[in-house]
Order: sequence, then structure tokens, then C-alpha cells
Amino acid sequence: MRKMLIAGNWKMNLDREHATQLTSSILESSGDSGPDIVLCPPYLLIPPVLEIVRDSRIQVGAQNLFWEKKGAYTGEISASMILNAGCTHVIIGHSERRQIFGETDISVQRKTAAALEAGLIPIVCVGETLEEREEGRTEIVIERQISGGLERIPQEILGDIIIAYEPVWAIGTGQTATPETAQEVHKQIRSWLKDTYSKSLAEDVRILYGGSVKGENAAELFGQDDIDGGLVGGASLDAEGFAQIIAAAR
Ligand code: PEP
Repeated sequence: MRKMLIAGNWKMNLDREHATQLTSSILESSGDSGPDIVLCPPYLLIPPVLEIVRDSRIQVGAQNLFWEKKGAYTGEISASMILNAGCTHVIIGHSERRQIFGETDISVQRKTAAALEAGLIPIVCVGETLEEREEGRTEIVIERQISGGLERIPQEILGDIIIAYEPVWAIGTGQTATPETAQEVHKQIRSWLKDTYSKSLAEDVRILYGGSVKGENAAELFGQDDIDGGLVGGASLDAEGFAQIIAAAR
């Protein structure tokens, strides 16, 4: 049985005061049981957030990394630095990084390999644009992103990898994929994992849905066979809304 997971992607939002308030509220409402919870604040807010969730079941992740271990890479952060700060997870290949910062399947592959080698759990994001969906290319695009992003990474180290299906047209738009549409792609991703690796790996890997998840639509999405939780952007900045999403995953 795969355990549900709710990850909050705070993106480039919040200052220290609001981040600590939000974290305390999430901690208070999260209870002792329920889905796994991962908060992904901007790098500089990771230490204060970790301080609050220490000894709780809430884990913390970064939103990006650079694949090299150390060196002259101004402005970058390595996987071991993220791990050393106390994080367990890292988001890789978010569509904003692909679209705004020019990330490719090759950079996603290098980052995913670096995260796994360091002992971080990568949340690898894939998703088609509206144009690609309208042209009937969703399946091809998702397969290209997954096979490119995981290429040459041996099954033995794939371990706890998490995949997030985030249709680009649903991110931050309020236009959520219907549960059926999301389930169709999640199922496709799981079949790809089975055909490429093994049945047991395909059954173990958690596939999150992301794209305008809210308290109102979360339960129906999480009720689908192959949806194992959510990667939540906007609604993760609101303690009450995020608590509703967590409650929907119990
Ligand atoms: C995201 O940024 O990963 C995301 C899914 O955003 P939103 O929930 O705001 O659509």
C-alpha cells in the first residue's frame, strides 16, 4: 500500500514571520496520523521551518538543486547542502523551472541522479502544456519527460523517488484536471514504470497530482486509484486550505 503524501510548494513566497506562522498552524492541524506531509519553502526559510517541525512527522524539502557537488557555481545549492540543512526531499523539473529557467529533461536527469546519490528523495515533475494536450501529444510528452528524466539511473537507487504529474495548464490557473483526466495520465506513468523497471517498483512509486488542488476538489482527485496525493502550490500558502487538503488525503 502506498502512503498518501501532500507536499506544499511555497515557490518564491512568504517572509520569515509569515512562514513561521504558517508552519506552526500546519503543525497544529496536522495531528498524529494521516498522509505524509512535506513543506518546500524557499531556501532561506528552510532553517526556521525545520526548527518548528523538528520531532514532528512533517518533513521539509527544497524547490531545486544543482547537480555538481561543490565548486564555482555562483548562486547554486548542491544536494548535499540541502541534505545537510535537514531536508529530506527536493522538487525537480517543476514546469516553472522548465519554462522560465530553461530546464530540460537532461538537466532534470542530472538533478534527479544527484539527489538520489546524496540521499534526498526527488519529487520529479512532469506535465504537458495546453497546446501539447490540444494536439493530442500528452502521452508522448509525459513519456519523453519521464524516460529522459530517469535515463540511466539504476533501479537500485530509484528507491523512494516520487513523480508529480502537473499539467502546465492547471498550475496556478484554477483550472484543475478532472479526476478522470488526471487518473488517465497517472495510470500511464505507472504502466511505463512497470514496463521499464518492474511491477513492484511501479506499485511502490508515489505519483502526486499537482495543478490547482484545493480543499474542494482534493478528495475526488485523491480517490483515484493511481493518485497518491498532491503537490500543492497556491493553496499550500493558506493554513486552512492546506489543512482541508491534508484531511482529504486521510
Ligand atoms: C505547483 O506549483 O506545483 C502547483 C501545483 O501550483 P498550484 O497548486 O497553485 O496550481
